Amino acid sequence: MKTPWWVVAALAALAANAFAQLSDDEQRIVAAVKQRTPAALQLLEKSVRINSGTLNPEGVRAVGEIYRAELDALGFTTRWVDMPPGMKRAGHLVAVHGGTAGKHVLLLGHLDTVFEKASSVPLWEVRGDRVRGQGVSDMKGGDVILIEALRALKAVGALDSAHVEVMFTGDEERTGSPLETARAEMIAMGRRADYALSFEGSNRHNGVDTATIARRSSGGWVLHVKGKAAHSMGVFSAQSGYGAVYETARILNAFREQVIEPSLTFNPGLIAGGTDVSYAETTATASAFGKSNVIAREAEVLGDLRYLSPEQGERARQKMQAIVSSGNLPGTSATIAFRENYPPMPPTEAGRNLVEVYSRASQDAGLGRIDILDPALRGAGDVQFVAPYTVGIDGLGAAGTGAHTDDEDLEVASIERGAIRAALLIHRLTRP
Ligand SMILES: [Zn+2]
Repeated sequence: MKTPWWVVAALAALAANAFAQLSDDEQRIVAAVKQRTPAALQLLEKSVRINSGTLNPEGVRAVGEIYRAELDALGFTTRWVDMPPGMKRAGHLVAVHGGTAGKHVLLLGHLDTVFEKASSVPLWEVRGDRVRGQGVSDMKGGDVILIEALRALKAVGALDSAHVEVMFTGDEERTGSPLETARAEMIAMGRRADYALSFEGSNRHNGVDTATIARRSSGGWVLHVKGKAAHSMGVFSAQSGYGAVYETARILNAFREQVIEPSLTFNPGLIAGGTDVSYAETTATASAFGKSNVIAREAEVLGDLRYLSPEQGERARQKMQAIVSSGNLPGTSATIAFRENYPPMPPTEAGRNLVEVYSRASQDAGLGRIDILDPALRGAGDVQFVAPYTVGIDGLGAAGTGAHTDDEDLEVASIERGAIRAALLIHRLTRP
C-alpha cells in the first residue's frame, strides 16, 4: 500500500521542524559529516586492520600514526608521549588545537584493544550493515567519530577559534603501571579542560541511545587468613582453633551480610585454602596443598570492589577491614589489602546538564534524545581519571555489541550519527 500523502507531508514537516533548530552553520556541519561517511568507514577499516592489542606496542603506535596524520591535517599540534620502557606500553597520542574562544574541551579515545596478536578474531568482517572485528566499537569506531566530528567543524570554519585537546591513550584496556605515570599527561590535560568528552561505545538502553555521567571505580582486595596446622580431631578446641578455612568463611559471609549497599559490589573471584597456598599472578592460578584431617593453616581470597563515590569506597573498606580484624575465630588471624585502579566518577549536576546539551543537539539534528545510562551497566574507563578535575561524560562513541568478546561488532550507521552529535556538541560548547 502506498503511504498516504498526508503522512508523508506530516513527516516532512516534523523533519523540517527538527532541522529548524539547527543554525545555518550547524546545518553545514551536519552536511560535512554526511559527505564524509564513506571515507570515514574507510578510515575505520584502515585502523581496525592493524592489530593493536595493548601488549603490541608497534601496532598501537601504527594506529596512532594514522590518527595523528588526520589530526595534523586538521591543524592540530600533535606529539607522542612515550612511557618508560619498563612499563612495556606504547605511550599516547596527544593533539592540541590552541584556540582562545569559548570553553576548553578535552576529547578522549584509546588506540589499544583487548585483542592481542594471537587472537583468532578476524580483524574486519563486514556483515550487512554491521562490521565484526577487533576493536570496531571498543573503540576505534569512537576514535573515528571523534576525528570526523573535528573534520566537519574544520570544514565549515567552526574549529578556527576553538580550544580542543585530544588524547588517544595506548593502554586503556590494560593500563600500564605505575598508574601515576600512565595517566599523568591525561590528568594534566583534564585539569585545564572545562569539559571532557569520552568516545567509548554508546549503549542503547530501552531503545534510546545513552551517555554516561558516572562510572564506578575498579579495584580489588586480597584477603590473607592464617590458622594453626594441627590434627583435625582438635578443631574447635581452644588449643587448635578453627583453622583458616572456617575463618575465611566467616569473613566472606559477614561481607555479604553487612557491607552490601546500592551501587556497591564486591566479588570474591578466587579462593584457595589448606596447609599451604600460593598464587601466580601471571597465570591467575592458585594452588593449595592440604588434607582433610589437617586444620587449614592458610587461605587466600582475591576479590574486586566497585563503588560510585570516594565516600562509598571508604565506607566499604572500613567495614571490610573491621570484619577482618575483629571477631576472629579462635586460633586465627586475617589481613586484607585494597588497591584502586580506576577512581570512581560519581554523578554530578554538571554532568547531567552536559548530557542535556548533548541530547538537545541530537534532537535538533533529528537523531532522538539521549538518556543517562545506569552506571551499573558499564565498567570502568579512562574518563574517570579526569572526572575529578573537569565535567566529563562518556559514551559518545559507536554503537555495537559484544565488546571484549570474539563477537564484538559495530552498527555502521552509528559512525555518522555519532559524528553529527559530537560535532554539534563540540560546536555548541566551544563557540564564543
Ligand atoms: Zn574501551
